[in-house]
Amino acid sequence: MLQLAYISTAGQPHEAETLDAILAVSRRNNEADGVTGLLVAGGRRFLQALEGPEAAVLAAYARIRQDPRHRALVLLSCGTVTARAFGNWSMGFERGGSGGDATDLRKVVANLVAPLADRNLLAQFNGFADLHARAC
Ligand code: FAD
Repeated sequence: MLQLAYISTAGQPHEAETLDAILAVSRRNNEADGVTGLLVAGGRRFLQALEGPEAAVLAAYARIRQDPRHRALVLLSCGTVTARAFGNWSMGFERGGSGGDATDLRKVVANLVAPLADRNLLAQFNGFADLHARAC
């Protein structure tokens, strides 16, 4: 099974309608393809992890890379894993960086990713949440 994580930048601040549309398509496609993962949106950034059968993950990533709703994708990690980190989530989602309690994103993401065995992935998500909680 392949697992990858990337970070990207949206052309404009995240809008609820755009995020809803991305999540709806992601969940539909990922469920059909056996892909699971987590998407965190903060400020203008996305941080996403995808995992599942190698061909399905690479196909999803190829589609995502071509999506004009974000740019400058940077692959943070990519490798084989023996077990899923994100269980049955076709695409878990959390949003931050839009105001409110600056500690919320940190807390929510910390809870979401706490069960992850992959310390590197855990650090990436917590680091991202920390950065964007402070940017609120
Ligand atoms: P359709 O949903 O039928 O879309 C057809 C085409 O229209 C696609 O090329 C699509 O990119 C484009 N399109 C649709 N809406 C818009 C819009 N509002 N603006 C510009 N172009 C648009 N897809 C997944 O399958 N799994 C994921 O986990 C996933 N995560 C994503 C994370 C982020 C941060 C972003 C920005 C997108 C993500 N997507 C994901 C969506 C992905 O980029 C593709 O849009 C989607 O996979 C295409 O699905 P489809 O082939 O069924 O085409």
